[in-house]
Amino acid sequence: MFLFSDYHTHPQAHRLQPYSAELLQPWVDSARVKGLRDIAFTDHDRYHAGVDFDAITRLREANPDVQIRAGIELDNDPETGAAGRAWVEKYWDRLDFVLGSVHYLDRPEQMFDSVPAGAAQFEGKLIDAIYADYFRRVREVAASGLVDCLSHLDLVKIHGHRPDASIAILVGETLDLIQARGLAIELSTAGWRKPVNEQYPAVEIVRLAQARGIPFTVASDAHSHAQLGENYPKLTAVLASLGITEVATYSRHARQLHSL
Ligand SMILES: [Zn+2]
Ligand SMILES: [Zn+2]
Repeated sequence: MFLFSDYHTHPQAHRLQPYSAELLQPWVDSARVKGLRDIAFTDHDRYHAGVDFDAITRLREANPDVQIRAGIELDNDPETGAAGRAWVEKYWDRLDFVLGSVHYLDRPEQMFDSVPAGAAQFEGKLIDAIYADYFRRVREVAASGLVDCLSHLDLVKIHGHRPDASIAILVGETLDLIQARGLAIELSTAGWRKPVNEQYPAVEIVRLAQARGIPFTVASDAHSHAQLGENYPKLTAVLASLGITEVATYSRHARQLHSL
């Protein structure tokens, strides 16, 4: 089994860097070295001004051996979210793939997944209540009609907080909605470089998604081209142990399933 795609990458990382050959070509070079033949650029929607579809077109022409998808990671940032949603609506037909994410809980000025500062948002709180609130926000993103796939579905565990309630009860309604809307879920290696030290989502959630027939993408959430496909051997082992034999790719929001 070989994972040939990476559907969560951030060429701009955490600042506005307009798309150009200089910025993007190293990502394609890195993909090629790692045997990845299908990658999606999914910068944070707050940096949508840096996304240049014509630069992506030129990159495709220069690299016909690698599928390069135009994407975005749309999140629930209370400050930039509305502009991000408007941008996704405007460019929907030029985008191949949109990730939906929840990075914000009650504090509008701080992502809860910033490490380590975001852990303070969990102090003195009931973890079950935070999980319930987090998944309610995921459902809002899933129901927006503007996403193809949910990223890091159980990101709320990032600092290592675990609920008392069963995860099946906490996540069930969210998975039902994802299934009903025909969306995919990302299997991400990013959790292995965070305090929780576990892939997203947890095995139990993946099993519940499998039971509902929800398809999966695979991803690293790379913020540097060196991180593309990071920890894929570990992720391959997880997929194999769960009997997952297909991954999804997207072209203009149309999903294709590939046997591994
Ligand atoms: Zn994210
Ligand atoms: Zn991301």
